[in-house]
Amino acid sequence: MNRITTDICIVGAGPVGLFAVFEAGLLKMRCHVVDALPAVGGQLSEIYPKKPIYDIPGFPEILAGDLIKNLEQQIAPFHPTFTLGERVEDLEKLEDGSFILNTVDGTEIACKVVVIAGGLGSFEPRKPAIENLEKYEGNGVTYMVRDPEHFRDKRVVLAGGGDSALDWAIYLSALCKEISLVHRGTSFRGAPESADKVVSLAEEGKLNLILKSNVTEVHGGDKLEKVTVMMDNATPVAIEADYFIPLFGLVPKLGPLENWGLELEKNAIVVNTEDYSTNIEGVYAIGDINTYPGKLKLILCGFHEAALMAHSAYNIINPGKKFVLKYTTVNGIQELA
Ligand code: FAD
Repeated sequence: MNRITTDICIVGAGPVGLFAVFEAGLLKMRCHVVDALPAVGGQLSEIYPKKPIYDIPGFPEILAGDLIKNLEQQIAPFHPTFTLGERVEDLEKLEDGSFILNTVDGTEIACKVVVIAGGLGSFEPRKPAIENLEKYEGNGVTYMVRDPEHFRDKRVVLAGGGDSALDWAIYLSALCKEISLVHRGTSFRGAPESADKVVSLAEEGKLNLILKSNVTEVHGGDKLEKVTVMMDNATPVAIEADYFIPLFGLVPKLGPLENWGLELEKNAIVVNTEDYSTNIEGVYAIGDINTYPGKLKLILCGFHEAALMAHSAYNIINPGKKFVLKYTTVNGIQELA
């Protein structure tokens, strides 16, 4: 079991969770950030990385993906640690007021303060309706590529027509023993240059591109051995596969947060606007996940909430110790060792 001890555990590595690391770091508090997705950035990385944003103070225009890169750079001096690709399942409050969080993959995080920056909830894969699919989850069926090396010299079938399916088809074609991309249409939703690259890889024989078709069955013993693809002409074709990776997008679900004893209203966590604390002392909720009168689901509102949260959390982590607010120009950015 992987055990991490930190001052603040931030659930959610979207823009607001990342900026919370900065605000906490200014007050010399250490953060560990957990996200169910394998990369940081939340909605900005997952839904609209190439969209320009016009309402970030000081940036007349910035691409969502670039804002996330800048936030990563801004928090680097505070050396946050990350657990990515793991959803936080449980939250337990101990008698001394501290917390233990557990992820779905067995990581345990001990902390003094919990900050939920969970956005719309954790993004869950949209699963195709295929009988027995869940039987092979973890044994050949996966919905995310966490480490591409895992697929080296394997036979992989990908399904989907968006950016993830195209990008991973291109990347994995150089690693896998055999790779097929099955797509129900003839045109792709993803970037045209990626679609062109996939077609040229198929023409070079480096990728098996199967259009106007669907994966309809999965087969094997304890592990996945093959999938059945229903071709355009209604003929079923079996393809031997060590892995089947359906990439049909992600849907946000409030998920496990629902069972943590938090006061909820319309799928959001009710907070006190003085410091964005929740009904559980030591647990804060910032960004899209919270609700209060006048709430706006905007990045800049989440940034403000992160600042107030950090000053309140400071009092829990440093009881009796006074912090005199100074500007970053006075204090500078003092790197955490
Ligand atoms: P998110 O970005 O949603 O990140 C939350 C993260 O928490 C996710 O990565 C999720 O996987 C993770 N998470 C949740 N639960 C768990 C769990 N149990 N365990 C582990 N991880 C978990 N806002 C603007 O200000 N300006 C804009 O121009 C703008 N344009 C937008 C355009 C689109 C198309 C969309 C969809 C939104 C736009 N928004 C915009 C809104 C903005 O994206 C959100 O306000 C912002 O993403 C909220 O950030 P966040 O960090 O609170 O949450």
